[in-house]
Amino acid sequence: MTAQSTVADPPVVPILRSSFERGVTRSYAWRVRQLKALKSMLEERSAEIEDALFADLGKNPAESQLTEIGVVAGEIEHTLTHLRRWLRPRRVPVPLALAPASAATMLEPLGVVLVIAPWNYPLQLLLAPVAGALAAGNAVVMKPSELAPATSAVMAELIPLYLDSRAVAVVEGGVEETTALLAQRFDHIFYTGNGTVGRIVMEAAAKHLTPVTLELGGKSPVYVDDTVDLAATARRIAWGKFMNAGQTCVAPDYLLATDAVAEQLVPHLVDAISELYDGDPRTSSSYGRIINDKQFTRLSGLLEGQTVRTGGKRDERTRYFAPTVLDEVPRDAPVMAQEIFGPILPIVRVTGLDDAIAFIRSGEKPLALYAFTSSKEAARRILTETSSGAVGFGVPVAHLTVPGLPFGGVGESGMGSYHGRSSIEIFSHTKSVLSKRLAPDTLKLVYPPFTAKKENFIRGLMRRLR
Ligand code: NAD
Repeated sequence: MTAQSTVADPPVVPILRSSFERGVTRSYAWRVRQLKALKSMLEERSAEIEDALFADLGKNPAESQLTEIGVVAGEIEHTLTHLRRWLRPRRVPVPLALAPASAATMLEPLGVVLVIAPWNYPLQLLLAPVAGALAAGNAVVMKPSELAPATSAVMAELIPLYLDSRAVAVVEGGVEETTALLAQRFDHIFYTGNGTVGRIVMEAAAKHLTPVTLELGGKSPVYVDDTVDLAATARRIAWGKFMNAGQTCVAPDYLLATDAVAEQLVPHLVDAISELYDGDPRTSSSYGRIINDKQFTRLSGLLEGQTVRTGGKRDERTRYFAPTVLDEVPRDAPVMAQEIFGPILPIVRVTGLDDAIAFIRSGEKPLALYAFTSSKEAARRILTETSSGAVGFGVPVAHLTVPGLPFGGVGESGMGSYHGRSSIEIFSHTKSVLSKRLAPDTLKLVYPPFTAKKENFIRGLMRRLR
């Protein structure tokens, strides 16, 4: 019997659980086979995957390689290189009072993992966690986003051809199907998406005491001061902001700068946009499109009453939305009250670093925070006086491509992090193991009955342990 990749197939989870219980997923060899097969799928079927990403998001194939296929392939490579070492038990020192004994931790797979992915990087955000879950020896149900239907369909078609269907299944669908999945018992749920659904996921998980990882979003600020090359800064910001037409969880959401910096920076941003998108983003094959009409309408509404310094043009039919820079945006404007998740960069004028830090701290903790400064003191203050999932100095977005850096949010931007070794840890239980020989029985010194002599000995012992 194999797990089917259909929506209404109630036995999917029990089939996977039975495979897990039978030990199908446990061996190192099985894990490596799955990871290699996943990588082969990315290599052999990259044309179909790129087509699907283009159909869903107008993604240029080069961008798909850079931000979707390549990120997952890099994760898999890194994991294959280090997995054996990561899985080795780690020895832990034993307190003298317990000697002779040995202690160690070992990672054990959790069981059946559910991975729920969003639409904006529909391949990367599905497969990067899946690679971690498989490497950790779990069975996996993957639920791609229904809002990226072409990518969802290509995953449902390809995954059963490459991965072991006894232990890996794709369930396509939307709210109804996800709700049905969430009613079942999993051993870990990994969700990427918005905080409202994050809360639904956590509530469903609580019923079964299932641990969750929530990869959420938020408003990631970018701070620029007058100590840096503003032309180079503008290029980096425009690249990170307008990639995937701004639909990136770690995109710079808004920019904080003083009047003097903002005045100089805006013309550089205009030049950078022109440079990146062949002089005209509308006709450039390097620029993406908005995922659907709902998002397009929401983003259009955010421009109302704002000062547009560049962009603002859009086409409802093709869902083209020009890279847009808004300036002198009031701190209470609607565009500052929600995660933008589109190609609009509002500039909020600040009086300096103190004001910028106070403003960042007045909001929820962001997924990422970026700063362009060559002042060591400014960098130190940003690191120590603000809280965010990650910090990028001099470059936005790219931290998530470093497999050794845990990727995740804090507070409203999420809980738990993954990538590289962190992925293995979140999808495993760290089991503590203590072994002590029966002879000599040193413990008899602390066994009852408690005589006065023993009490003195125990008091001395406990003082030494403190
Ligand atoms: P989405 O609408 O595709 O939803 C994500 C998943 O949740 C989908 O698989 C969907 O089927 C499921 N879902 C939706 N409604 C549900 C419900 N009521 N019950 C159960 N499941 C439901 O994606 P989205 O949420 O619009 O994604 C955008 C958000 O995700 C942004 O806030 C963005 O910042 C965040 N995000 C975070 C990361 C990260 O790594 N931290 C990455 C990408 C996106």
